[in-house]
Amino acid sequence: MKLLPGIAPKNFIIIPIFNRKNRNAILSYARKVQKHLSTFGFTVELDDNEITRPGNKFYRSERFGYPLRIEVGQREYQNKEMTIIRRDTFQKLIFNLDTKNLKREIKKLLKQIRKTQQDIVFKDFIERQIDLTCYKTITEAFDHLLLETDRIYLINWCGRKVCAEKIESKTNFSLLGYDHESKTIQRLCIVCQSKGHQSVLAKRY
Ligand SMILES: [Zn+2]
Repeated sequence: MKLLPGIAPKNFIIIPIFNRKNRNAILSYARKVQKHLSTFGFTVELDDNEITRPGNKFYRSERFGYPLRIEVGQREYQNKEMTIIRRDTFQKLIFNLDTKNLKREIKKLLKQIRKTQQDIVFKDFIERQIDLTCYKTITEAFDHLLLETDRIYLINWCGRKVCAEKIESKTNFSLLGYDHESKTIQRLCIVCQSKGHQSVLAKRY
């Protein structure tokens, strides 16, 4: 599950990596990192559960969709650093706690993650769509077409409920509304032939 930074429960999850010898030092350093980032207004969770192995914690952090994961171990502790891993690209970045403009750098990262994820969603939407706006009637559009559930179909619709119901009962798909990108282009509804717009028809789950 990938969540956008704005939707994810927390911005960060800190995963401390320690052994019996350096346990106390690393855990207290991890808390320091958590506190430091919290003062900037970021939401930070510290996974200090001592039973779960780091590998399983990484897996959990991915499942829960934290945009950024922080690893702190011996090296980070010694150098007053943190290793940040981007959820979307798995790129590793090392920051010193005293880095100038740290808050701004992190905000920039979160913004970039949001952007790549929006691009993925948009690309997927484009790849899945099939344009049926050349068809003038509901019969023409759907009589010889077997609709695929994972596709998105573009059709012309006037926006009226009565027409939506006809299209939906014919296709067993749902009208999700106008495609706002192309709202300026006038089209004729495939049911009533009155003025409408390119609209999105998709399977609703
Ligand atoms: Zn209509």
